[in-house]
Amino acid sequence: MAAAYNHIDKKVKKILKKAENSEEITKDEALELLKVTGNEFFALQNTANNLCFQKKNNVVTFVINRNINFTNICYQGCRFCSFSVPNKEKDAFLLSIEEIHDKTVQAYHSGCTEICIQGGINPDLNFEYYLDILSIVKEVNRNLHIHAFSPQEIFYMAKLHGTSIEETLKELKKAGLDSVPGTAAEILVDKVRKIICPKKISTAQWINIIKTAHNLDIPTTSTIMYGHIEDLIDRVEHLHILREIQKQTSGFTEFVPLPFVNENPILSKLPNFPLRLHYGMGDLKLFCVARLFFNNYIDNIQCSWVKLGPKMAQVSLNYGVNDFSGTLMEENISKSAGADYGEYLSPQEITSIIKTAGKKPAQRDTLYKILKFY
Ligand code: SF4
Repeated sequence: MAAAYNHIDKKVKKILKKAENSEEITKDEALELLKVTGNEFFALQNTANNLCFQKKNNVVTFVINRNINFTNICYQGCRFCSFSVPNKEKDAFLLSIEEIHDKTVQAYHSGCTEICIQGGINPDLNFEYYLDILSIVKEVNRNLHIHAFSPQEIFYMAKLHGTSIEETLKELKKAGLDSVPGTAAEILVDKVRKIICPKKISTAQWINIIKTAHNLDIPTTSTIMYGHIEDLIDRVEHLHILREIQKQTSGFTEFVPLPFVNENPILSKLPNFPLRLHYGMGDLKLFCVARLFFNNYIDNIQCSWVKLGPKMAQVSLNYGVNDFSGTLMEENISKSAGADYGEYLSPQEITSIIKTAGKKPAQRDTLYKILKFY
């Protein structure tokens, strides 16, 4: 062990040593690491950075993609969300299939390899609309990877379609769905979900949809939305659930920590809302702990530059993160919630951010195949 580990707490040192030897760390050990400060914090950073270096050879990847949010009309009433509006609201929108086509053509001509599609749970939609979205994107180019529809949307579609989750996913796959965002996970602890998103699918339903997708060879990402009312034990429980799924299915391509953006959502304005104030050290510790906790299970840890901002996202690249996410071109959800970023970072800006963090930039596809080194 290097000098970074001298004079640190023995318990922490033992956990870091375990991780360095590629041994699985337990939930209690992850919790211990989420609490470190001072020298122990820098030792944690050192271990996460070393593990990331060994796994990824100092390469940080990104994908050239476009987000299409096709509707912001939604009645789920998640209390952290300020993207959704009722359909009578003046800002309410629902894109036509032609508009989705035009956005896809523009994305294709800009070099995108992935179209990421998500929207609100809009009661005016039918299942055919979702199938038409997939068909129109593939009509533009068959090789465009469609990364679309959260588990919450898939749950809604199964209701619209009147069949099981499995049958619904089969239909979507047949129409062109290539992979699914592991969003709507928020925190996979029902007591927290009941407060922040009471109408959303439960933890068990989320797990079932994700596992069903994996069993049908539809890969998904995995996410956590943290930094609101949850405590560190909830965060660890969430990580544990994801690791257990991955042990069974190997279907997760990456893990994306998404910090809660708290400027506009109703949640942060409620007088009795027990918001746990959260700053940069909490982000960095979570990235490091994810690198250690998921080691050999989920080896792609992604930063969300939209939520963190490009500066903090760059810092994260030395804290166990090996993926800078995508160019996006359009991102309405975080922007509505008060994030200052969103919309677009060019490949040139992303590669410059990665290079000046001391890493080697590479463009990847959605499934982490390297397409180009810079
Ligand atoms: S988070 Fe999604 S499901 Fe919840 S209110 Fe917002 S758009 Fe609707």
